[in-house]
This record gives sequence, structure tokens and C-alpha cells, in this order.
Amino acid sequence: MRIHGKLAGQSEPVEVIVEGRTIHSIRAPEPETRQALGGANCWVAPAFFDVQVNGFAGVDFNSPGLSPEGIWDAIAKLREKGVVFFCPTVITHSFEHLAGCLRALDHVCGDPAAASCLPAIHLEGPWISREDGPRGAHPLEHAREADWDEFLRLQECAGGRIGMVTLAPEVPGALPMIERLAAAGIVVAIGHTAAEPRTIREAVQAGARMSTHLGNGSHLQIPRHHNYVWEQLAADGLWASFIVDGHHLPPAVVKCMVRAKGVQRSILTSDAISAAGMPPGNYRLGAVDIVVQPNYRAERVGGAGSGILAGSALDLLRGVENVIRFAGVTLYEATAMASTNPACLMGLSNRLGKVEPGREANVIIFEWKPDSGSIHLKQTVMEGQVVYDADAGA
Ligand SMILES: [Zn+2]
Repeated sequence: MRIHGKLAGQSEPVEVIVEGRTIHSIRAPEPETRQALGGANCWVAPAFFDVQVNGFAGVDFNSPGLSPEGIWDAIAKLREKGVVFFCPTVITHSFEHLAGCLRALDHVCGDPAAASCLPAIHLEGPWISREDGPRGAHPLEHAREADWDEFLRLQECAGGRIGMVTLAPEVPGALPMIERLAAAGIVVAIGHTAAEPRTIREAVQAGARMSTHLGNGSHLQIPRHHNYVWEQLAADGLWASFIVDGHHLPPAVVKCMVRAKGVQRSILTSDAISAAGMPPGNYRLGAVDIVVQPNYRAERVGGAGSGILAGSALDLLRGVENVIRFAGVTLYEATAMASTNPACLMGLSNRLGKVEPGREANVIIFEWKPDSGSIHLKQTVMEGQVVYDADAGA
């Protein structure tokens, strides 16, 4: 396979030669190919890796009823958005429910082709703050103290596939759990937390490596200086994921946080719920009613939590467009935040990183219009195969 386009970060078009699953070489195109390309506004970048996807296109990963057909529907729809790898994310619930969801995910990963798209399961909770605000849309009755034995039982249900855990370090038992998770090679993220700054520092010392959707899952008001947001921003040992949908964080906050964290430690995530990739309207998310508005805002309706953001209806293509606009980063930096950076954090650099010889051919080909800031995805390539072609419609 030959792919033509400009590599994000470079100005001249290249020819990427793929043999089997691997990028064999990259060279300047032949003069006639170059002429045929003309002024084509075609770009090539690493495909995307989303570390937090609760569901997509009507498929909910927080369901013990997840089927192989369901996971393939979600995989196909995510490929239409440039995502080839993602961490299905299971959030705070009863042990029995979590066990059922994790068993279902382990079952669908019995298919090696599906497992290849899902490098790890992200367990977000249930060991999180019980306070309103930090808890976000997670159910109060299931937020609980950290319990290593419970983790081991859940990991068994997941067939050992849990590779990322988001927890609140101030929850009793959390700090020793962070040490054990880190020792087991699992990426620990701080999230849904009301921790004192000192506890954030202790969590980093214990082995926490990321802040999950930094700036969200927090109180409406916090002390201006001594708080968990500044402390995480200042912690060089922490990567940070951001939901850049324009609702979870205002543009100025995205800009400041990305600059404080540095592009290299910033990760774009969608935190997509099952209603993402679906038309605006009302949906049921587990036991919660939500509405997705035409501007992609997804919030709870009815009850005490009405109006609270409930995950997002965004995809990473729009996230990349937004972060270029909000934070003033380059196309190269924005695509790296959705691909190279999460791959590095999750130990997937051998499969996804830069578009260069010797790497597995997991790339996207797209048009980018800097004036309007819009990205039009043309093709998604995974392991050297075209898995989405906009012109073919599939
Ligand atoms: Zn969350």
C-alpha cells in the first residue's frame, strides 16, 4: 500500500510505503505522483488512541449484556473518527455489576481482532470521592473505600485486562492500592478527587501517573491556591487527560492547562458515552436519563443531578480541531496528544507513535482546512489495512 500526503509537522508531501502491517519506508514521491497530487490538502498522522470511552454509537460498555456484535459496531464507528485503539471504560457501580461488565469485555476480547483494538480496560472508580462535585455523575451509593481484594477479584473477571485505574487518593486504602497497582504495571490515574494538595503529592510518590479529565469531576468552588487542580498541574510526574469539547473546560482553561502541563504530557480523551456518535436527543445511560444537545453537550435530566455533565458526546477528531483553536497548538502537536502521547503512557509506542519506518502502519489520512479549523477524515488504516474509507462509506 502507498499513502500520499504531508506528514503533520512537515510541509512537503511524502509517499509512505506500507508492506504487510508495517511502514516499510517513507520517501519523496515520484515527479508524476507529485504532479498528480497537485495542491491536494492531504495529511497523514498516527491514528488515534482514546484512553476513556464509556460507549459509542449506541453501544454501552457499562453493560453486562455487551455482545461481540456490539463491540464491533463501536469499533467500526470509532474508526470513522480516526480512533483505532481505545480503552473501554467501566465506571463506579456495585461489585456484581462491575464484574458483569468486565466479564463481558473479557469475553468480546476472546476475538484477537477485537482485542487488538482494545489494549486495556480502564476502570474509573468505584474508589472515588463521595462528595458532590468531585463524584461527578458517578452514583453515590456505589462510591466506596479502596479494597485491594476487590480489585483482584475484578481483575480476575476482566481476564487481567484492566490496564488503567482512576481513583481518588484520599479514599481510605487508596495510597497502598496505588503502590500495588503501579507495581503490577497498571497505569494509575487521579480523578474524581477532593484530595488535599499533600495527598496528591503522596499519590504521585506512590506511583500515580495521570490526572483523569483534569479540571472536571471537581467542586464548583475551591480554595484559590491550595487545591487539587493546581497541585496536579504542577506535578511533573503526572500526565493529564482533557475533554476538549468546549463544555467540560472553557477554551481559556484548556489553553492554560495544556501550557502548564506541556504538550508532551497532555492527552486528549473523549470520555464518550454510548450516545456519542448518535443524533442529538434523549437517551438512557444505565439508570440515568440524559440529553445530548446539538452542540454535543451531554447532561443529566431530571432529579437532583439535573444539568450535570454526564460524559461527553464528542469524538477525538472534534477534540483535535478544538485544541488547535483553544490552545494554539499546531496540527502536529494536537494529533500527537490524541495518539503518540496516550500510546507512550500506555506502553503502546511500538504500535503507535510516529509515522516512520519500522512502526506498525496505524495512520489516518485527512484533509485539514486551517482557515475553518475543520478536519475531514478520508481513511483510517490499522495494521496496514484500510479499515475506514470515507469515499467507500465503510
Ligand atoms: Zn469521570
